[in-house]
Amino acid sequence: MSFITRFAPSPTGPLHLGHAFSALTAHDMACAEGGIFHLRIDDIDQSRARAQWEDQIYDDLAWLGLDWPRPVRRQSDHLPEYRAALDRLTAKGLTFPCRCTRRAIEEAAANAPQEGGTEFGPDGRIYPGTCRNRSMDTATPEDVIRLDMARAVDLPGPAAFTETGPEHAGTHSLDPQDLIQTVGDVVLARRGMGASYHLSVVVDDAAQAITHVVRGADLFTATRIHVLLQRLLDLPTPVYHHHRLIRDESGKRLAKRDDARAIATYRAEGKTPQDIRRMVGLPAS
Ligand code: GLU
Repeated sequence: MSFITRFAPSPTGPLHLGHAFSALTAHDMACAEGGIFHLRIDDIDQSRARAQWEDQIYDDLAWLGLDWPRPVRRQSDHLPEYRAALDRLTAKGLTFPCRCTRRAIEEAAANAPQEGGTEFGPDGRIYPGTCRNRSMDTATPEDVIRLDMARAVDLPGPAAFTETGPEHAGTHSLDPQDLIQTVGDVVLARRGMGASYHLSVVVDDAAQAITHVVRGADLFTATRIHVLLQRLLDLPTPVYHHHRLIRDESGKRLAKRDDARAIATYRAEGKTPQDIRRMVGLPAS
């Protein structure tokens, strides 16, 4: 069985213990399977990406003992590929331009609460549909582009994915009604950005022939979006493995701003890579 996985950090801050756990878990799994571990730089959001953080990522991961094939894929080098994927979805009549501000979305949602669904999905507040009937011909550079979920879920045949992570192991089928009510019209492209995270991650995983996506449990609910986009774009669906999250003493998930737990801080304090493995609960290598 081939096993190709990746670790895909965004260079928007220092890597912390949660990133170390994610990268080491994916790397260990690839080693155990005689597979390949890719590093990918998720710098689609150029307003937040910084070269300084990208350099620090290479440095911290090498220090941890990881290695990966070069050249590294960087999203900012592949904008035409995301554009082409977006164009394919548009050609299928599955996209619409949206000019709603966050505030307008809040107000519309408050005035017309959805029946049976949730208020928030993996992509934030469920979009109330204000711009859904706009045609793509009316799109301006200020608009975001959304997926028309009700149309998108009209697939020929069932869609499912396999999860091997500890919390949700098994086969998960996509439920059209559930996608409409608890995910909604997700954003595919943002102002000033070629593509949203959801669209770019799907294109990247296919371009790198990723067979196993290993990432944090916080992205489990977004996986349905990715599997749906893979179906719509005729791309293969990898196996997914969502690992536990590393939390601080109060149970909160670590964030980029948790500089205190940055790998660079531990390095400066004289900790070793084996210390880091121990701190995140991984066996010595
Ligand atoms: N850049 C994304 C993140 O850091 C990657 C998520 C993924 O692995 O799909 O959350």
